[in-house]
Amino acid sequence: MRVLVRRLCEMGNANKELAARNDQVFIGTYTRYPAAMVKGAGCRLTDAEGKEYLDFLAGIAVCGLGHCHPAVTAAICRQAGELTHVSNLYYTEPQTELAELLTAHSFADRVFLANSGAEANEAAIKLARIWAGENRYEIISLTGSFHGRTMATVAATGQVKFQKGFEPMPEGFCHAPFGDLASLESMITDQTCAILCEPLQGEGGVRPLDRDYLQGLRRFCDKYDLLLIFDEIQTGMGRTGTLFAYEQLGIVPDIMTLAKALGNGLPIGAMLTTKRIAAAFTPGSHASTFGGNPVASAAAVATMKVMLADGFLAEVRAKGQYLHDQLQLLAARFPALATKVRGLGLIQGLVLTEAGVEKGGAIVSRMFEKGCLINFAGNVALRFLPPLIVSREEIDQMIQLLAEVLGDI
Ligand SMILES: *Cc1c(COP(=O)(O)O)cnc(C)c1O
Repeated sequence: MRVLVRRLCEMGNANKELAARNDQVFIGTYTRYPAAMVKGAGCRLTDAEGKEYLDFLAGIAVCGLGHCHPAVTAAICRQAGELTHVSNLYYTEPQTELAELLTAHSFADRVFLANSGAEANEAAIKLARIWAGENRYEIISLTGSFHGRTMATVAATGQVKFQKGFEPMPEGFCHAPFGDLASLESMITDQTCAILCEPLQGEGGVRPLDRDYLQGLRRFCDKYDLLLIFDEIQTGMGRTGTLFAYEQLGIVPDIMTLAKALGNGLPIGAMLTTKRIAAAFTPGSHASTFGGNPVASAAAVATMKVMLADGFLAEVRAKGQYLHDQLQLLAARFPALATKVRGLGLIQGLVLTEAGVEKGGAIVSRMFEKGCLINFAGNVALRFLPPLIVSREEIDQMIQLLAEVLGDI
């Protein structure tokens, strides 16, 4: 009995204790919520004190199949027991199978595997530059975009707050105003080699670009012989209701980057392109020690097989519509705080009013206290990124909690 009481007391402080240990050893790059997560299953997380959370963030669009999906866990365990790493000096079956799946289900026919989104974008930037040849190196991206935290991808990112203090930025990046085709065209010069863009800006506040705009970018790329690079790191892997967002746009990019949900939680990124463009990279042009690691690749193969099964993506579209409709009803109920809902599939944003924006952080914190994880993106919208396996009941539960929080605020 005494042992049990002591264990419960220890558990009662477990979150705080881990936070205190963390503060002693980590460089302070993160502001964290006071929870030490210990277990995940489906759309639920449990912290060190036994509190449960309904997860509408999925590790920021990473755990598309939810936490510890049995097929992915089994693939990871199987591969970890056979071979975990050999370097890219040798072939392995998991990465081959992954590249076969990616090319079979996209416009692309060549793949480079990396470990993260930023690295996938770095590979895309390098490929665009070497493809374009001498003195064509400039990449136009959009204001409000997010492309990663390495120096080149920070330079490509169209938000000054990520660049501040790290100047000078690497050369060869400029930013066109969001959604304005004419100004983008006026920025194209003899030095331009590519346009880099997210079909829907995730970090920027769940801001979709319209179809006409994106088709316009495709036209410019054809007209001026530029590469169209789609950063689908957040929108890819079923998030928008199709395997890739470009499928809904009536256009095809030249290069596409993936990461986040690709390995359902294991670190892996990919840069996809056509055979013709890929030929600009030759042996030695680019490499990654861990890229395409067998365990991460096996996780990605298992993830893709689940997503490609009959009916999976149709369900994402149906549930995305349901989440959208429920959020719309909330927006109508709380017009002082929220204006509208935008997004595609299961990436949805509740856009806040000026007064609402003031409370954005507080709304997320109150939701956290109530045991529901969401976030506030781009200082403009509450962002909802549930695992794609979320149920309608779980959507109802989140909406119920959000209604309580908005009511209190
Ligand atoms: C998350 C994200 C990145 C960066 O990915 P990392 O794995 O954190 O390097 C790049 N682009 C977009 C659109 C993202 O959402």
